[in-house]
Amino acid sequence: MARLASRLLRLASGPGPGRAGLCSLGCCASYRLRDRLHPLWQSPITIPGGSRQSPINIQWRDSVYDPHLKPLEIRYDPASCLHMWNNGYCFLVEFEDSTDKSFITGGPLENNYRLKQFHFHWGAINDWGSEHTVDCKVFPAELHLVHWNSCKYSSFEEAVMEDNGLAVIGVFLKIGAFHSGLQELVEVLPSIKHKDMLVEFDEFDPSCLLPSCPDYWTYAGSLTTPPLTESVTWIIKKKPVEVDEDQLEMFRMLLFTSLGEEEKKMVDNFRPLQPLMDRMVRSSFPSQHRLNIEAWSEEHSQRASQQRSLKGTVHL
Ligand SMILES: [Zn+2]
Repeated sequence: MARLASRLLRLASGPGPGRAGLCSLGCCASYRLRDRLHPLWQSPITIPGGSRQSPINIQWRDSVYDPHLKPLEIRYDPASCLHMWNNGYCFLVEFEDSTDKSFITGGPLENNYRLKQFHFHWGAINDWGSEHTVDCKVFPAELHLVHWNSCKYSSFEEAVMEDNGLAVIGVFLKIGAFHSGLQELVEVLPSIKHKDMLVEFDEFDPSCLLPSCPDYWTYAGSLTTPPLTESVTWIIKKKPVEVDEDQLEMFRMLLFTSLGEEEKKMVDNFRPLQPLMDRMVRSSFPSQHRLNIEAWSEEHSQRASQQRSLKGTVHL
């Protein structure tokens, strides 16, 4: 069973990024070290053969500046924060989402997306932990703020399965200065050490966990945990936020396991990189060495017509 599951995980990780070409699990050597299996990944039915899976390596020079991308508007109401819990894979802070109390709009989004929950992914040590990478650089942790499209769908559960259903903001964490906003969460972690433990947690504004820099990358992807549905517009913030090493160490005292079970530390709870395939990563900010979106479209359509004519030759 363990061998089969390990094979499935390799299948899920795919052959490595497509267009980027430079990064693979092979070149990100640290990724090899955390190849452990969580029960979450042991069911074959959770592995789809998708074309827009997440996470990905963001190859900075291959991302395309889109001057039409608007700034992301974030409106979070601290009073909509409900509780914090250990779901056996990570810890989540969940929000009341029956109305648009906490939501995002603008950026690459055409609708309002309501905040459902946020959670983190992290490594056993600081050398790895993030799901996305930038030019193969791995961060020690990554925050995900999960929102659902409340204009098109009536619930989070419905939106998860649908096109343009979800929008997730990703923020990299790096080791540096003490983060007072994060500390509010860290202080509660001992009370949700075991799987399924839940505590009330209110009056928290998660915008304190975001970098002040508005720059982001965006691409069409999927959830990084089952059901892995391809319903996510990813918004990855360019700038990481700094957290103190001791604060991240507190994440690692959490457990995957329930009270009474043999203890397994909650670490390395991230999915391996997935192939980019035929996707464009857009950036909200200009930079040198970067194609703009018009040039990318032209190059892409030229390449597509070349491929079509090659195909035609083969058939003839
Ligand atoms: Zn996540």
